[in-house]
Amino acid sequence: TDCSPPTAVANVSQYACQRRTTTENHNKIFTDVMEELAESSEFNESKGPCLAFRQAASVLKSLPSAVQCLEAIQGLPCLGEHTKAVMEEILTFGRSFKVEELRCDERYQALKLFTSVFGVGPKTAEKWYRRGLRSLKEILTEPSIQLNRMQRAGFLYYSDISKAVSKAEAEALGCIIEETVHWIAPDAILALTGGFRRGKEYGHDVDFLLTMPEMGKEEGLLLHVIDRLRDQGILLYCEYQGSTFDVSKLPSCRFEDMDHFQKCFLILRLEQGQVEGERGQQRDPGDSRGWRAVRVDLVAPPVDRYAFALLGWTGSRQFGRDLRAFAQKERQMLLDNHALYDKTKQLFLPVTTEEDIFAHLGLEYVEPWQRNA
Ligand code: ATP
Ligand code: MN
Ligand code: MN
Repeated sequence: TDCSPPTAVANVSQYACQRRTTTENHNKIFTDVMEELAESSEFNESKGPCLAFRQAASVLKSLPSAVQCLEAIQGLPCLGEHTKAVMEEILTFGRSFKVEELRCDERYQALKLFTSVFGVGPKTAEKWYRRGLRSLKEILTEPSIQLNRMQRAGFLYYSDISKAVSKAEAEALGCIIEETVHWIAPDAILALTGGFRRGKEYGHDVDFLLTMPEMGKEEGLLLHVIDRLRDQGILLYCEYQGSTFDVSKLPSCRFEDMDHFQKCFLILRLEQGQVEGERGQQRDPGDSRGWRAVRVDLVAPPVDRYAFALLGWTGSRQFGRDLRAFAQKERQMLLDNHALYDKTKQLFLPVTTEEDIFAHLGLEYVEPWQRNA
């Protein structure tokens, strides 16, 4: 087999923000396994190994072709001994026994199942597992378990929201959100973010950013939008979080910290007839409802923070994580979804576009569809 020459891998950066990663992944057989191992490490609260597997998967996703032999990955960053051993197994046997073992593991199976419910994180999943619960049905029939509102919605719409959202469905939702937002405020600014902005064909939800051209006018907007969605009868669930944004605060150095913008996590009802390509189409006979539930996130930053919010919410997670690590370690700057701060000059850097942020960091601009790290 042809092992790519060393020059092909010579210049791969350890930072995802210095790589271009499209949705075309030539190394899916490796990255799927790495991501499962990362998830398993996360369940075991092994943060180091979890990050290492995610970084390894991310590097492999950026490669222009499939890895055919171990020699081809020599010199690539972020691939540790553990990762290389797994890759060797896959190259030799076409599969990883370690991962196959993991897939059969009762704890892993249960935690994966539980965390697939909207509103259930690793902590809750672990708690349920420790109580001896193994299936969703057992959770629902266990009288001592108190589900919160989000989890109740998660179970109620489980079959719908665990189904991937297609690009056509995301576009149909985009039309509904746009009509709703512009009915309230004709000059509002609305953008699709998340995986669909990166050109993904499928997603677990649809993410939007909205703001007003005049500072402060965005304040009541989100609550109006929510009211209007409710009036239209398409609001199935809404978790609203008001703004806790403080302009004087330095950007957070921890990537895990959520941002402070006004936002809402929704479940919306999407009529099948509103989706391009499914209009008048014969529906699955077992599914005579003609609609599905979809998870939607709306975030409303003030307009002067729009570029930061857009960059942060476009993702991918790994891309954002590395962008912030790069800023800190290589530039002595602090970046988060709200601001960019230069620690050497002790000042906040002025930004209006995503391009400005890359320029301040001394990075070549990476297009949204190249951020699938
Ligand atoms: P998917 O197709 O699975 O939805 P995605 O990349 O759109 O993939 P999301 O979980 O929707 O994933 O998140 C989109 C981006 O927004 C990610 O980069 C993530 O870091 C960021 N993000 C998600 N939730 C929050 C939050 N509560 N606060 C700040 N940023 C968030
Ligand atoms: Mn998303
Ligand atoms: Mn989201």
